[in-house]
Amino acid sequence: MATDYDAPRKNEDEGNESIEALKAARSNQGTAVESEDADNPSFVLGGNDLSNVELDVVVLPPQQDEFTCMSCFLVKHRSQLDHADKTGPICKDCAA
Ligand SMILES: [Zn+2]
Repeated sequence: MATDYDAPRKNEDEGNESIEALKAARSNQGTAVESEDADNPSFVLGGNDLSNVELDVVVLPPQQDEFTCMSCFLVKHRSQLDHADKTGPICKDCAA
């Protein structure tokens, strides 16, 4: 794993803290292979966090006091409902 020593040098521009952390991890663990393993969990956790956020955003069904305007396709509060035609509810913004 001699080539692995090039990786931290590339990161020098991004900040010294990560290099210090890598050096500390290296001296603690002794081998580059173990430090590579230590990087993987952080990637997995980051991916999980992102997917959770995406799910929270995507799964947003209209509530009972909300409707989806059939003109702008935005979910609006019932107080923003102007009227409903054949296609469905139309918000005040689109009816104006
Ligand atoms: Zn609308």
